[in-house]
Amino acid sequence: MAWMHAVAAFLRTKRLARRLRTSQDVRRWQQHRVRAFLARSLPAVPYYAGTRAAQLDDLPVMDKTSVAAAFERLNTCGVTLEEARRALDRSDERVRGLIVGQSTGTTGNRGVYVISEAERFAWLGMILAKTAPQFPFVKRRVALVLPSYGALYGSVAETRRIALRFFDLGRGVEYWRDELRAYQPDTIVAPPKVLRFLAEDGGLHPQHVFSGAEVLDPIDRAIVEAAFGVTVREIYMATEGLFGVACALGVLHLAEDAVAFEWEPVPGSDGLVVPVITDFVRTTQIMARYRMNDLLRLRDAPCACGSPLRAIEAIEGRTDDVLYLARETGGDAAMVTPDVVRNAIVDADRRILDFRVVQAAAGRVDVWLPADLPPEAAAAASASLTLALRRAGAGGVEVSIHAGIDIPVDRKLRRVRRDWQPVSPAG
Ligand SMILES: [Zn+2]
Repeated sequence: MAWMHAVAAFLRTKRLARRLRTSQDVRRWQQHRVRAFLARSLPAVPYYAGTRAAQLDDLPVMDKTSVAAAFERLNTCGVTLEEARRALDRSDERVRGLIVGQSTGTTGNRGVYVISEAERFAWLGMILAKTAPQFPFVKRRVALVLPSYGALYGSVAETRRIALRFFDLGRGVEYWRDELRAYQPDTIVAPPKVLRFLAEDGGLHPQHVFSGAEVLDPIDRAIVEAAFGVTVREIYMATEGLFGVACALGVLHLAEDAVAFEWEPVPGSDGLVVPVITDFVRTTQIMARYRMNDLLRLRDAPCACGSPLRAIEAIEGRTDDVLYLARETGGDAAMVTPDVVRNAIVDADRRILDFRVVQAAAGRVDVWLPADLPPEAAAAASASLTLALRRAGAGGVEVSIHAGIDIPVDRKLRRVRRDWQPVSPAG
């Protein structure tokens, strides 16, 4: 029964892709859908009851804090945040018939959400439609390793066109590695750290590789692409929804057929924006004008694939991980976005294929590099990062280099991270 929703969403997504030919088509169609959403879905939850919004501008911008504060009034079943958290604590996937999940952020800062079973499968159907090759007459064997689909581990769906198998991210790759090898998928959808593990492990020969649930770092992309000999296509998704899927050319296109995007510029950054999203497809928990945590770089040039959906140059990290560093001159903290930190490290020496950077205090940044990296490469990374921080206005910051990286596969990979909270956050 639930699979019917995946099939319906698959067909709807495919049909829309044929119908919406130009960005103008998309805009017009989206306006129509947003109006219907504002008129019908929005007033169905108490938070917006009585709100008469003719356009998105009429609504307040929400964020993780305001959504948490109004949680039970933002979903149609009145599920409270405590109820949802209790279910998650006892590893229960369901609360009052809804599926409850959380984002993979840091503890205490996790976004919690509820969706219906139908919505979860519709989401899957959309992903499959957007990842399907243009030539649909070849049977595909798809392996899905995605958060919040762990409970489907072991379940298989098979039609004449497609075979789907779920693998549990929570149990770790080693647990089902042999099973995956025996399955020999031609399409793999997994977080980048899993893709990298599989690429380095060998024994698989996928023709379509999709990275999702975490930011795809160019380092991992290069390693996975070299191992499998194919372009890694990024899926931009979060607990809040499905936001984009890369086309066959590897360019990420926004899922404007399900989500309306607004953009907030990041002051002091080199052209980065934060998305404010409205999901006009999901209705169990309303996500209207929700400010995401991601830092994006938009792409101006249209994509050669011909898709009318807006293209993204890169997802450069998360707003939570923007470093706020003390200036030598005092005053406001100097803001350094994760992409600047990343480029400083990686461009310092081509042998640097992995790293972690953590801001642990106002004037301290720790860098972890692979234990086998030659000392001169580590020294180059330190010098390069120090210079980049000084350019951003943060002189006098202590950069400490450590040898050896421990990568827990079950945790979300964030190479650049801020573990320190300014007393009065800048920006
Ligand atoms: Zn494209």
